[in-house]
Amino acid sequence: MQLRSTQPTIGPVSKANRMRLACPSCHAAYEVPDDRLGVGARRLRCARCAHEWTFAPPTAPPPEIVSLPPLPAAPPPLVVEPLTPREPAFPPYDEPVGFAWGALAAWVASILVLGGLAFASVQFRPDIMRAWPPSQRVYALIGLAPR
Ligand SMILES: [Zn+2]
Repeated sequence: MQLRSTQPTIGPVSKANRMRLACPSCHAAYEVPDDRLGVGARRLRCARCAHEWTFAPPTAPPPEIVSLPPLPAAPPPLVVEPLTPREPAFPPYDEPVGFAWGALAAWVASILVLGGLAFASVQFRPDIMRAWPPSQRVYALIGLAPR
């Protein structure tokens, strides 16, 4: 964009739509119509010294300052009382000393039940395979293929 010095060529114009610029190199003054500058940065060349520079028009005016109503006063802080040490609800549990015979009996019973099931499934596998044919695959998996 080629600028021409305002002095010799441009007569009196309204200042409202013209931007006053000065060459950064030779300080020649120019007045450029705003519509020629546009809104973005432009590359300008001085007509007197041919210096080129980038002109960025002033950015948008600062946003309007909106005055906000003050926040309502914060509620008074909640006063909390420290916990008072109390007696525990349950007395400490005393682990009974001695062997847990009940637990052992439960384990033995579980193993007996599982073992009985395994024994029955092997012992009666022809009946099981006849009643439920998909079980043949299971027996084949554990090496008890149908006979
Ligand atoms: Zn210049």
